[in-house]
Amino acid sequence: MIKRRDLLKGMLSLPLVGGLFGNAFSKPPINSVSALGRDYFKELGLRSYINAAGTYTSLTGSIMRPEVIDAINYASKQYVRLEDIQERVGVRISELLGCEDAQVTAGAFSAMTLGLAGVLTGMDREKAARIPNDLSGMKSEVILQKSHHIGYAHALRNTGVKIVEVETKKELEKAINKETAMLWYLNAHSENSEIAHEEFIEIGKKNNIPTMNDCAADVPPVENLWKYTDMGYDLVCFSGGKGIKGPQSAGLLLGRKDLIEAARISAPPNGDTVGRGMKVNKEEVLGMLVALETYIALDHEQEWKLWERQIKFISDQAKTVNGVETEIHVPEVANHVPSLKVTWDQSQVGATPFEIREALKNGHPSIETKGGDKTVDITTWMMNPGEERIVAERLRMLLKEASKKT
Ligand SMILES: *Cc1c(COP(=O)(O)O)cnc(C)c1O
Repeated sequence: MIKRRDLLKGMLSLPLVGGLFGNAFSKPPINSVSALGRDYFKELGLRSYINAAGTYTSLTGSIMRPEVIDAINYASKQYVRLEDIQERVGVRISELLGCEDAQVTAGAFSAMTLGLAGVLTGMDREKAARIPNDLSGMKSEVILQKSHHIGYAHALRNTGVKIVEVETKKELEKAINKETAMLWYLNAHSENSEIAHEEFIEIGKKNNIPTMNDCAADVPPVENLWKYTDMGYDLVCFSGGKGIKGPQSAGLLLGRKDLIEAARISAPPNGDTVGRGMKVNKEEVLGMLVALETYIALDHEQEWKLWERQIKFISDQAKTVNGVETEIHVPEVANHVPSLKVTWDQSQVGATPFEIREALKNGHPSIETKGGDKTVDITTWMMNPGEERIVAERLRMLLKEASKKT
């Protein structure tokens, strides 16, 4: 138990800490204890881990850059009106990305709901108050490709619309009717889609139906931030806390000005709306802008080369163990970063990939990886610098320990 007196002492010593360490403390290293000296996660009985998996929601996405934390701290000390900061940040983001307008949302999922709500209601607040129970006077269907119909389409159904699945271009054209509100595309599945982006957009335009592209996890490459609005999508959605390394509970709705303005009708602070629970505070609205600025300004080529070196290092270490094989690959779309698959001959290494992954997770420090029971899958893009060496050594050691003596 921490006594109140001890807590107070910690607080009183705060200015002294600043004084002693001066500028060295202005940008504390990630994972350091707070300036108050409290180890909050430890107090809660939580153990942090090296993220060798990637930008997974359950693993809390990404670590925000110091610039983002500075912006959040800055905004936390003074008031501005919520609608004003959204409007001004929207202008700045659209200047940065070359789109018409932008809204910071509570993640890509909420960008989808709000974007569609705007398509359904236009600027009519009375309609917004009736979503999702009564869509009379509004359109009520969204069309998407069957291969795109994964769990995220629930964000669309939250507005009360019905999802209509199609497989081919022909089917899409046939499915369009007077109830069709929007056409929705899952960018992550664009590689194996029956209908390509350009055809999809063209059909939307021909029929005067807005198109939306869900690009939640689809930076890098950085160009994707403007590629799809440039291509002609009316609305594009991104997650804030994946590759952009903004606040995990923020996201972006980008696109046509009239549709963004309509989406705002259903967003906080407006109360009687489907989006009222999708609040983004001023700290995160500003944090999202600064995350975007910081991300765009990076030397992306250099970052890519770093990831390649890190992955090769881990791969080389793992391969020193007899029977271990590795494959370095880059997923085409979504999580488009150098990635490692580690497999082995179980007659030579007597442990399953699941067992090795559990051992990585349960060791010190804890290391989170992906992969089912067939591979250990590793990426380095969500690691802090140097952690790839710890991961490489631990993986090598565990594989070595499981090696059968022959
Ligand atoms: C992560 C993800 C989402 C949800 O994004 P949030 O920012 O967590 O709301 C939606 N669609 C796809 C394809 C995703 O990968």
